[in-house]
Amino acid sequence: MKVLKFGGTSVGSEEAIRQVARIVHSSIDQLVLVTSAVGGVTDQLVHIGELAASGRKDYASFIEGVKVQHEQLYYNLIENKPDEQFYKIIEEFEDICKGVWLLRELTPRSADYIYSTGERLSTLIISEFFRNEGIDVTLYDSRDYIITDDHFGHAHVDFKETTKRLKEVSKTFSKVNLFPGFIASTADNQTTTLGRGGSDYSAAILAGVLDADHFEVWTDVDGLMTADPRMVKRAHFIEHVSYEEALELSHFGAKVIYPPSIQPALEKGISITIKNTFNPEHPGTLITKEWDQDKELIRGISSIKDISLVTLSGNSMVGVPKFSYRFFRALSEAHINVILITQSSSEHSITVGIDTKDSKAAVKALNAEFEEQIENHKIDPIQAENNLSIIALVGSNMKNQVGVSGQMFNVLGKNGVSIKAIAQGSSERNISAVIAKDDLNKALNVLHESFFLSVTKRINLFIIGTGNVGKAFIQQLVQQFTYLKKHHQLNIKIIGLGNSRLMHFENDGIPLSKWESILQAGEKYSSEQFLEKMYNANLRNSIFIDITASEDVAGLYPQILKKSISVVTPNKIAATGSYADYLNLKGMSRRYGSRFLFETNVCAGLPVLSTLSDLVRSGDQIHQIEAVLSGTLVFLFNEYNGKTKFVDVIKKAKQLGYTEPDPRLDLFGSDVKRKIVILIRESGYKCDYEDIQLNSFLPESCLESNSVEDFYTKVEKEEAHFKNLYEAANKEGKRLKVVAKYKNGHGSVGLEAVDSAHPFYNLEGKDNIVLFYTNRYKEQPMVIKGAGAGAEVTASGIFADVLRLAQTD
Ligand code: ADP
Ligand code: ASP
Ligand code: MG
Repeated sequence: MKVLKFGGTSVGSEEAIRQVARIVHSSIDQLVLVTSAVGGVTDQLVHIGELAASGRKDYASFIEGVKVQHEQLYYNLIENKPDEQFYKIIEEFEDICKGVWLLRELTPRSADYIYSTGERLSTLIISEFFRNEGIDVTLYDSRDYIITDDHFGHAHVDFKETTKRLKEVSKTFSKVNLFPGFIASTADNQTTTLGRGGSDYSAAILAGVLDADHFEVWTDVDGLMTADPRMVKRAHFIEHVSYEEALELSHFGAKVIYPPSIQPALEKGISITIKNTFNPEHPGTLITKEWDQDKELIRGISSIKDISLVTLSGNSMVGVPKFSYRFFRALSEAHINVILITQSSSEHSITVGIDTKDSKAAVKALNAEFEEQIENHKIDPIQAENNLSIIALVGSNMKNQVGVSGQMFNVLGKNGVSIKAIAQGSSERNISAVIAKDDLNKALNVLHESFFLSVTKRINLFIIGTGNVGKAFIQQLVQQFTYLKKHHQLNIKIIGLGNSRLMHFENDGIPLSKWESILQAGEKYSSEQFLEKMYNANLRNSIFIDITASEDVAGLYPQILKKSISVVTPNKIAATGSYADYLNLKGMSRRYGSRFLFETNVCAGLPVLSTLSDLVRSGDQIHQIEAVLSGTLVFLFNEYNGKTKFVDVIKKAKQLGYTEPDPRLDLFGSDVKRKIVILIRESGYKCDYEDIQLNSFLPESCLESNSVEDFYTKVEKEEAHFKNLYEAANKEGKRLKVVAKYKNGHGSVGLEAVDSAHPFYNLEGKDNIVLFYTNRYKEQPMVIKGAGAGAEVTASGIFADVLRLAQTD
């Protein structure tokens, strides 16, 4: 004999019930069926009870709603008006609600009676439909067989009496025997319920007592998943778990199976399968005694959304064991289920996690229990901390493994999720943490990505700046998207996109093929709004990318880093601000687990800063730096040969997009100065912009211009100066380069004539080059050379920073 339980969604519609009939029809075994109320009905009944108790007259229209819904279902399935039995259930339901409304009081006893309506109606409809379909079915009233105490709302089963009655009735079983789930009764015929979600338990009791060969729980998902699929899109299906693992998972909120329901099956060693009513071919999840020792460390991640923490603390508790005894006794007498316990080793406090709906009652019970000690200031008044959730990692293989909690807290910390309490079950099959409810979704996803290796990691980008470089970056993302997903398990999405005028956000990612038109139709940009939306999205692996040259945007970094969101930027302003600000940004990112990456500040996409950082981190020391850091200046002196005017070469460089929008920034050397400041700082030395000695190659007159045009005019007038520079070098077979240096603790920038033996001599086009002289690279410097400017290479440098962040955990 098999026991099959169909949940609320499995009997939630006409089509679903027809599907159940097909499943039942195709079975050759004798069956015991347990079904829930039609999906959502129990919630409505709870609501109706509350309305009536609060004296709201409209409770009656909700009753009408429930009635019509079931009449419709009856009619659609059975093609007839509901019978007398049906209306008898409805009338009883109406009467009891009326009583509640008149008395303005909903006792636990009447509540259970009201709630029983759902299962009684659903099983009546199903049994009549089955009979019409030619199924040999008998409907039993579970209240005659499952006997409990009178703890309404969560009654305890009297197994002795229940076994006696069920064994007796099983002698006359038909092929298909249908029992309403969730409901039971006391020995003196008061209707009770087994707790929300209790149909699973009803079915397990039947399976256990009747020694079923197998127990199947039919629901609307293919089985137990590695996390709640509504919150973690990439959750995947688990083929097999042990009873203990299933118990831990369900205890912490994997509501596919109701925790106590495993117990009766476990005691008899009956295997359980979780199956999908809407996909019956799928094998489902098998639950048995054994666990797979060779599988993943973590079997699943579950969570409970609404948790409150209640803490008993005070100085006089130290070493007095009775306090904790009284604490737990008071909670137990108030029927409060303790979900998690932590006690600090100093014994100054005990904290428990409980369901938020119990928090008022818990606080009341505890304040009463410790009234005297609170008055004497020995114990602090007890309060509940609300809006919390529990997240739990479950897996039997965690037992002998160190480092799991370390990884858990590291991953959560990096994503700005702070942990209020931690508990590890003594079974070592779970580690749970209490976190803010607002962080739950993020925490679940980030842990899931971290512990299930085959899972694609989602990276969420927030970008400001859609100029040449911004555009090129998005273009590269479009081109790389599929490759990154397939080969690196990275799913990179742009969630927020803005420029100086407009911005747009989409939590599932902005469709990249249409980003321009989407942004065109976006809302007005403001940096406050941009940040607020980014914080509110509260997504894991968030990266803020500044692709502007704006001082305002650079000013946002400290607050962003503080929210544990990493910053990537080609904008040099922040890294070249005052040394104190630079150190502050570095410290901020260390403290909040976020990173501040600006590889493209120096030599665009060339891996200059990452190489430097690797050298420094691995203990090398930088003594000397020599570099050509401006693509524009290399281009100018490579192109200029005394024939075309120097000013025209500048104009050409601008036209080709090599220069900054204002070419004076390049020509004056301030851009190069900034870059050498960054190299010096990243080498680990204190340096400010003013510390760099600049020997300009421009004549005095060109340094004082009030516009770009004015500058051009002045450069043109000084053509002879530039020609002289060129010819003097050319005569000696040398070439001109603007060289940035760090030597003997001193930084400088100036024009030099280098001969053909020098590594700078052959620098082509707009290439950059950096030489690092270090302890390890003494005679022969470490050389990094290549294209150092241009939108494409800069964008690819930003991309490299993003990937660097994405691939570290
Ligand atoms: P039923 O009405 O069949 O009793 P429930 O709604 O009680 O169904 O439980 C099934 C739901 O549990 C699924 O639809 C799924 O959204 C949710 N769920 C939560 N955690 C998990 C998990 N770890 N694995 C599978 N489903 C889960
Ligand atoms: N109908 C009840 C509930 O919603 C029992 C169940 O579905 O398991 O809680
Ligand atoms: Mg359920």
